[in-house]
Amino acid sequence: MPMSNDVSLPAEVRPSWPPFCVKCRAADPSAFYAFTPARSGWLAMLPGSSWLVRRDPVVAPACPACAAKMGRARLIGSVLSWVLLFVALFTALVVLRWTGVSATWRPWLASAMTFVCFMPLSIWHVFHPPPLNATIMGGSRIDFEFADEAYASMFAGRNVDHVLNK
Ligand SMILES: [Zn+2]
Repeated sequence: MPMSNDVSLPAEVRPSWPPFCVKCRAADPSAFYAFTPARSGWLAMLPGSSWLVRRDPVVAPACPACAAKMGRARLIGSVLSWVLLFVALFTALVVLRWTGVSATWRPWLASAMTFVCFMPLSIWHVFHPPPLNATIMGGSRIDFEFADEAYASMFAGRNVDHVLNK
């Protein structure tokens, strides 16, 4: 069961944001938290996959301190994913070589082992969602994921004409 509160909009719609910080809900924040949304599908499994495809950033209102904190958390998460990916892949290849698995199967088994290493991280993300995340689904829809249910319903209310039924 996902713990984030999702609101889906068509990808081409520029969303209207409630006048509150997306993290602490302070009124009329003076800054913005901007990030490039990830794309769903197997590409999204790659950390930093958002660099591979050009797309519009999500720009949400936030206090300067909250925006900086969220930006830092996002960067750390991204770096950690890269480190985990390389450690998992390297370990898998070394272990497979050591166990004498045929070279034909090694890349596939290594990929599977890497995928298994990422599962706890993915599960942890489901239960500890960031204040705001966004994912482009199939190129035509964007899912905004909010940790805060009240903020999600304010956001849905302001964009009610565009909200897509899942
Ligand atoms: Zn704030």
